[in-house]
Amino acid sequence: MSEKNQETEVAVKKNFIHQIIEDEIKEGKNNGRVHTRFPPEPNGYLHIGHAKSICLNFGTAQKYGGLTNLRFDDTNPSKEETEYVDSIKDDIRWLGFDWGDREYYASDYFNKLFDFAVKLINEGKAYIDDQDAETISSQKGTPTRPGTESPYRNRSVQENLDLFMKMKDGGFNEGDCVLRAKIDMDSPNMHMRDPILYRIMKTPHHRTGDKWYIYPMYDFAHGQCDYWEGITNSICTLEFEVHRPLYDWFIDQLKSDDYRPRQIEFARLNLSYTVMSKRKLLELVKDKHVKGWDDPRMPTISGLRRRGYTPASIRNFSDRIGVTKVDGMIDVALLEHSVREDLNKTAQRIMGVLDPLKVVITNYPEGQVEQLEAVNNPEDPEAGTRMVPFTREIYIERDDFMENPPNKFFRLAPGREVRLRYAYFITCTDVIKDADGNITELHCTYDPASKGGNSPDGRKVKATLHWVSVTENVKAEVRLYDRLFSDETPDGHKDVDFKEFMNPGSLQVLSECYIEPFVKQSKPFDHFQFERLGYFNLDPDSTPGKLVFNRTVQLRDTWSKEQNK
Ligand code: ATP
Ligand code: MG
Repeated sequence: MSEKNQETEVAVKKNFIHQIIEDEIKEGKNNGRVHTRFPPEPNGYLHIGHAKSICLNFGTAQKYGGLTNLRFDDTNPSKEETEYVDSIKDDIRWLGFDWGDREYYASDYFNKLFDFAVKLINEGKAYIDDQDAETISSQKGTPTRPGTESPYRNRSVQENLDLFMKMKDGGFNEGDCVLRAKIDMDSPNMHMRDPILYRIMKTPHHRTGDKWYIYPMYDFAHGQCDYWEGITNSICTLEFEVHRPLYDWFIDQLKSDDYRPRQIEFARLNLSYTVMSKRKLLELVKDKHVKGWDDPRMPTISGLRRRGYTPASIRNFSDRIGVTKVDGMIDVALLEHSVREDLNKTAQRIMGVLDPLKVVITNYPEGQVEQLEAVNNPEDPEAGTRMVPFTREIYIERDDFMENPPNKFFRLAPGREVRLRYAYFITCTDVIKDADGNITELHCTYDPASKGGNSPDGRKVKATLHWVSVTENVKAEVRLYDRLFSDETPDGHKDVDFKEFMNPGSLQVLSECYIEPFVKQSKPFDHFQFERLGYFNLDPDSTPGKLVFNRTVQLRDTWSKEQNK
């Protein structure tokens, strides 16, 4: 299959980055070529913030007929693992994007970066500093006070070369020395004050094994990788804005013709009630506050997928929130809206009862199983219909009945008639209780003339209930999720750990739920709308003997005349 066919064409709203690119194309910059990259560090799973960056990078290239590279920023071997590389690739593909054969690693460039460092040393633009990290940072100065030059700053080129080779060959211990660029200790930009280029790390690397004892800093790697890959627009988040002069300084030392990559910054996504830092997400996983990276309460792409989010819903969300230069906070409700909107168009409708109350229809023949026709998706005429079995005993939702209903409760109550969706009108005749006064079942009668749920004589009922047969069903576990944090900005409180704001009720497991038999044929990750209850999907924890569903998102009840859910 060609690359084009595999990729999902994404409608992307025009944003300020597109404007920059259109201007560049008009000026004939890079011969009209547009080439972006997505540069994850493989030290955790991707989250919804990364999804924004992925949609922006891949979407922008698509919009202008360009290309996007996937480049793993694997410059820190102590935190990086192959598991993360694999999950990142799965997540990007699942979102609908394809990097073709352009899968790169910063570590692919370790030799070139080393040679570039040697070139800088030869040109007197880099030196080995024997001071420890603390001393170096104490000499940095402040934005208003210039830094102090290192006593090792004016070593000879030859001495620097010898020491750098010794660093490379493992002749020093970690922390003994670093390679620094020799730029300007008086620069108003702190990043230009002789930044560190290489440090000694005697940690094996997930790709280069134990070949290297020194590793480049991120700042020393990513701009050069952009250059070598022919990237035209290096899109990154706002915190890198102050690094841009350094990015450009390195490119100035490298470039040989007109071409140079251009760094453009945008505001990262912050979502309410969510933490987005990989370090904090890792903490939640490691300390078992959640079941794993793909726990459906996590803001990771794999968590959202497991929760029942669709790729289209995440792409639409990314497009809807737009791209700006100002940090802000997006309401998590907007993400929920996006998935609701997408699933409304596509999800198979079924009936399931989560908190069952048995109803015996006393005038319905015992042992009879009647197949009633139900609509699969009212939003999609092509989806057709299915048959749902109806029997004398059914379950309804416990909260669809009230013995002493207040004025605004229109659902089932003693003496009242309601419609069972696709089935019949029923009237409650008796309420059966146990010795403690708990309602154990209801007795009702049905009107055989109301088959299909149609009124036989124009008489009206005020509510329509979903139901499941007591004998013809699939028993299931249903997991209901609430926000993982009960505070809008869990990591925005000084001196209070974000975990203090974890919502103890974020997972509720309902183990006795009944679903119509249709779901027997479904596969993990299949989406459903449980009528009146929300969108759900089948969890991979399901076994043939026990289906497990996740509630993706709630649904507003649109059937009954009251707003009861
Ligand atoms: P985190 O702060 O969550 O650890 P990171 O920036 O260290 O994230 P990287 O793997 O380096 O994670 O990110 C890869 C790309 O995704 C970068 O270009 C980064 O700018 C972008 N990115 C990360 N978080 C967000 C976010 N919340 N919104 C938009 N883009 C993001
Ligand atoms: Mg990073």
